[in-house]
Amino acid sequence: MGVKHFAAFFILLVLALGISASASMLIPANDNAKENSQAPEYSPVIGDNWDLERVDFIHYAKPPSNAKPSSTSCYKLMGVKWTALPVNYVINPSNPQGLSESSITSAISASAETWDNATSQELFNNSYGIDYAAQYGVQNFQNAIAFGDYPDSGVIGVTSVWYTRVGKRIVEFDMLLNTDFAWGDAAENPLLMDLQNIATHELGHSVGLSDIYSTTCNTVTMFGYSTEGETSKRTLEQPDIAGLQRMYGA
Ligand SMILES: [Zn+2]
Repeated sequence: MGVKHFAAFFILLVLALGISASASMLIPANDNAKENSQAPEYSPVIGDNWDLERVDFIHYAKPPSNAKPSSTSCYKLMGVKWTALPVNYVINPSNPQGLSESSITSAISASAETWDNATSQELFNNSYGIDYAAQYGVQNFQNAIAFGDYPDSGVIGVTSVWYTRVGKRIVEFDMLLNTDFAWGDAAENPLLMDLQNIATHELGHSVGLSDIYSTTCNTVTMFGYSTEGETSKRTLEQPDIAGLQRMYGA
């Protein structure tokens, strides 16, 4: 092969490679990615019917009435659940009340472990993230827990849950803790809104449980009202556990 022929061959080779490369790029690149994706923090299961719905659970303050023994039916499922476990979450410890990062993260992680311990599955990742930029209410597949001001008075906290319209898979939750209330450890100071108490209730929403408002169920963790000084929602009652285990197993 002469120099000229070699040069021509080389140019043809480059052209051929270029054409095959560009031809392969015409194949939709996202099909495999869709089928193979799991649904941890930033890569949800994205089906062809990728269409999210959102529900907000708003937790109001209300003085407690007399505690009633709760029946086993005192739980309500949202009809959506996580299909990829464990659920990862991040805590934004920023708050205007001077609560320490460690007091916030230990209260919230204790809440997560309370649900975790009621099912054999690893429901929440034991190691959470700390992210001072994490925001409530932004649909970004980051499960964010943050303090902030909520416009309506009397609202203690809000948990938003996003799920797929088709398949009913939860893909994200965000939790807002309203800074209208003074937060802390109500076991030490009953004038405070107990962080672990409220976080346990709100995390119940994040895994697929709805509020219960019947006064005959007012001792369960998923009862829809709380007040300062309350710590009874730190632990789960049998109906809360029954609801959880219907979704994730015993
Ligand atoms: Zn609630």
